[in-house]
Amino acid sequence: MTGAVGYGVFSRDGEAPRVGFRVGDGVLDLAAAGLGAAFEARSLNPFLALGRPAWEDVTARAQELVSSGAELLPLADALLQLPVEIGDYVDFYSSLEHATNLGRLFRPDAEPLLPNWRHLPVGYHGRAGTLVVSGTPIVRPSGQAMARDDTTPGFGPSRRLDFELELGFVVGSPSRLGEPVSTSAFRDHVFGVALVNDWSARDIQAWEYQPLGPFLGKSFATTMSAWITPLTLLEDSLVGAPAQDPEPLPYLRVSGDWGLDIELEVELAGSVVSRTNARGLYWTMPQQLAHATVNGASIRTGDLFASGTISGAEGGSEGSLIELTSNGAEPVRLADGTERTFLEDGDEVVMRGRAGDVQLAEVRGVVLAASYSVG
Ligand code: CA
Repeated sequence: MTGAVGYGVFSRDGEAPRVGFRVGDGVLDLAAAGLGAAFEARSLNPFLALGRPAWEDVTARAQELVSSGAELLPLADALLQLPVEIGDYVDFYSSLEHATNLGRLFRPDAEPLLPNWRHLPVGYHGRAGTLVVSGTPIVRPSGQAMARDDTTPGFGPSRRLDFELELGFVVGSPSRLGEPVSTSAFRDHVFGVALVNDWSARDIQAWEYQPLGPFLGKSFATTMSAWITPLTLLEDSLVGAPAQDPEPLPYLRVSGDWGLDIELEVELAGSVVSRTNARGLYWTMPQQLAHATVNGASIRTGDLFASGTISGAEGGSEGSLIELTSNGAEPVRLADGTERTFLEDGDEVVMRGRAGDVQLAEVRGVVLAASYSVG
């Protein structure tokens, strides 16, 4: 099987949205295939709530239908929707290289990694209501920021708008309040993965983030791909994750290989500016979920957990502009001869991923000029 594969929600010709299974440039209409009422829904949530046996059964049947020549609708005719009714949205900080790079840039006179970083997957609760589907234009946010050498903050459109290349996982089966989800129960609860662009306004973020973490510098929009790739189709891409030192506490220990060998790239205004791989992430997905629930917090169908920016160790493998340009000091040069420090109005960002023969659906978004400036 080649090309992007996954589940999404689409409509055509003004018909009601429904669930489809994408294979490359075609979409199998699962509602029309008579696989059940869950596929006549406007989101994947009813299907996700059915649990792993149903996910695996439907995926196998969908693949059979495709290989036996079932009619596929042209992807180009499908109007794509946000595939999941997002419950809660959590964003982690799982890349050692990214956390180190950001620590150096935000706190140049201190140890880049804070003392907790190697002991737990650091994360924060994001804004579920501003998740948007790939292709949605992103209006440049306005906000409060403290410019270098100023003594009072100003207000206006962000001048340091950035992308963050991330991999997210989507919860299918919920858990009960008070019952942590162990690392070994990850497969029972998690349906699949999607690429995520965590748009970030660095100037707003730098001024507001201490002491409670990201807020308006992140919450204006987060883009996810229109198609969710089920874990079932990624089993061949599970590889050993980086060694962890020190060994984490028992609840964060995990058996088996949970690195994901997914080649990733970011294209900015037509030029590829970053290439990396998700297998380098220090904290794995089962560890992220175990940590997010170890206090007894429950998870719901449709919850989205994102990895945090995925950066590698080599130049050109950083998953954000603030890293690629050393906080704007070293612009990246694009194929058309122009340079970028941060995103300009009209810039389109496209993120792509590939796990062997299985492509993840892309995440795409163009930056629009700020729509207002009050303050
Ligand atoms: Ca992020």
